[in-house]
Amino acid sequence: MKYNFIKKSIFILIFGCYAFSLMSQSYWQQRVDYQMAIDFNVDKHQFAGKQTLKYYNNSPDTLRKVFYHLYFNAFQPGSMMDTRSRSIEDPDGRVGDRISKLDNSEIGYHKIITLTQDDENVIFEIEGTVLEVTLSKPILPGSSTVLDMNFQSQVPIQIRRSGRNSAEGIDYSMAQWYPKIAEYDERGWHAHPYVAREFYAPWGDFDIKLTIDKKYVVAATGLLQNGNDIGYGYQEQGIDVKRKGKKLIWHFKAINVHDFVWAADRDYVQTTSQVPNGPLLRFFYQQNSKTEAWEDLPELAVKAFSFIEKNFGKYPYSQYSIIQGGDGGMEYPMATLITGERNIKSLVGVTVHEALHSWYQGTLATNESYYAWMDEGFTTYATAETMAQLFDGSDRTQARNYQVYDYLTLTGKEEALSTHSDHFNTNSAYSLGSYYKGAIALAQMNYLIGKESTAKALKRYYNEWKFKHPDANDWIRVFEKESGVELDWYLDYWVNSTHTIDYAIDSVGGNDESTSITLKREGKMPMPVDIYVTFIDGTKKIYYTPLVMMRGEKKNETSIERKTLPDWPWTHTSYQFSIDRPIQDIKTIEIDESGFMADVNRKNNTWRQD
Ligand SMILES: [Zn+2]
Repeated sequence: MKYNFIKKSIFILIFGCYAFSLMSQSYWQQRVDYQMAIDFNVDKHQFAGKQTLKYYNNSPDTLRKVFYHLYFNAFQPGSMMDTRSRSIEDPDGRVGDRISKLDNSEIGYHKIITLTQDDENVIFEIEGTVLEVTLSKPILPGSSTVLDMNFQSQVPIQIRRSGRNSAEGIDYSMAQWYPKIAEYDERGWHAHPYVAREFYAPWGDFDIKLTIDKKYVVAATGLLQNGNDIGYGYQEQGIDVKRKGKKLIWHFKAINVHDFVWAADRDYVQTTSQVPNGPLLRFFYQQNSKTEAWEDLPELAVKAFSFIEKNFGKYPYSQYSIIQGGDGGMEYPMATLITGERNIKSLVGVTVHEALHSWYQGTLATNESYYAWMDEGFTTYATAETMAQLFDGSDRTQARNYQVYDYLTLTGKEEALSTHSDHFNTNSAYSLGSYYKGAIALAQMNYLIGKESTAKALKRYYNEWKFKHPDANDWIRVFEKESGVELDWYLDYWVNSTHTIDYAIDSVGGNDESTSITLKREGKMPMPVDIYVTFIDGTKKIYYTPLVMMRGEKKNETSIERKTLPDWPWTHTSYQFSIDRPIQDIKTIEIDESGFMADVNRKNNTWRQD
């Protein structure tokens, strides 16, 4: 008996370990470690770079090629970015035809001087913004290799995201500035040409030494390692006089990130503020009459971080830098580049949005090309919640996102959210879709599975998928597990199609004992329906029809009595139910009083007693 028990226990233990290892093997991701030394020439706006990249192949596949992004090559006349911008019907105003007019001293480029794999030369070829490398020996599953590169780069005039001399006079906004290895995942390589947007890269550690003229203050991803050496305590404002020689080496390290940004300016001042039990916030900006709002920003940014950490999960790094630079707002690990000449609400708005990308993109590193709605949309959702908390406390925080989505459906230009972000027909279809319809993908969960489940699932999603590359299915699975409701159909309709929601009260009739209500599904997308009935005597009751394919139902989170009706099959466009009270007792009947269902036509949602 005892022997059997032990044998059984050992079996369970071994089997358990085996099952666990099978489980943990089903998800894998590549890993990289970058070491770079950059020697910057501020007179020519050029730099020489040495990069050592250790690449870990955690995939089950043997890799015979690798690919790098060479983003600066997009800023050359005739590039894919230039051509696309001059042919799309609604070009980004910042780009327009500006790339086509750059001369040789104004373009951006990366020239690869040498490239070796474990000290052996490799064959490589540059095609626009992508460097294709045929390895000298394959990288086997579970093994690693070292790629050494010497490169020479020129920083383009600031046109989009990165470059020199921004419109606000920031000297260098250095985003997408180095040869960056592309991501390889279960869908293969993602060596997308840089046409307009979106980034995706493997996780890793960055060790970066930037040598630059001592007149410049550098702000960057990661933590400065040698603040004392360079005579810049990094706690105080301004530049310390102890700097010697013509150039300084700024040494930064960032652990477990998937990109590295930096910016440099001769006039940066720095302020800091500490989030209680959270990160140190650093603010880099040019102090002048147009940037006065930066003085009030730290206090509000601290409040924002506290709210965000409480509601969306713990910020995973010890520092976050808000840096004036770039041409709008753009997220990077542990930092953002934002334009700085703004009023306080706009400055806080852009800071909150970009900071929230530390959750939805920085930490939950979805492939933005395919799931832009998961980072822009969720960020937009969380920004609305945070801004309402900071400024007006409104409980209709998501209302604007619904309004913009309604507008998108009326333009006739909507495309499915699953479209690759560079391949939307128009920039507006991409942005209105990813930001607003994407925000509703999440906001609508409050309606579908309830507010409590949504809030819990969102945190659980963060905790289960941080430092990974979740896709749409990974996201929806967490929401299914948390709510007990099947939701695959929701992705099919909301993300993979442009079908819209429109429910109507078709007819109401009855006699002295009961009232019969017929609902109609006018839109192609099915949803569960909450019907709010208000009686003449002032009482209220909710009637709820889940969908058959939900295989479950949400909790009633209101204090109003609710009756759950039989499931509504999506194949049926109409649905009838009755209330055991005479029609003359009823004042109003309304579909979705909460406004959280994205019904594009609310005119047919209410019936009133004449
Ligand atoms: Zn964004």
